[in-house]
Amino acid sequence: MSNPQQVLETRLAGLREELTRTTAAAATVELDQTTQGRLSRMDAMQQQAIAASLAERLRTEIRKTEAALDRAAAGTYGDCCRCGEKIAAARLAADLATPFCSSCVSA
Ligand SMILES: [Zn+2]
Repeated sequence: MSNPQQVLETRLAGLREELTRTTAAAATVELDQTTQGRLSRMDAMQQQAIAASLAERLRTEIRKTEAALDRAAAGTYGDCCRCGEKIAAARLAADLATPFCSSCVSA
């Protein structure tokens, strides 16, 4: 199994790139609105809303990944942020950035 820290850093770089692309796309849509008619303006607004919600999801994922990397740097990676128990390997394998063990997440 590869180093989770490495995987997380690669993922973080990818997420940041995607966020940059998404915010750039949203900005472009905004510019276009001034030159377009009413229907396409609504289209543009819809596209912008989609881009905004995607950007929000990406930001959340970035924060979560950064927090996992902070824990890796602090030597507490793999420990549940709530109860401090070790997170099950299968759970970590499914989501390397997960901050909680399965009992805390279902609680
Ligand atoms: Zn826990």
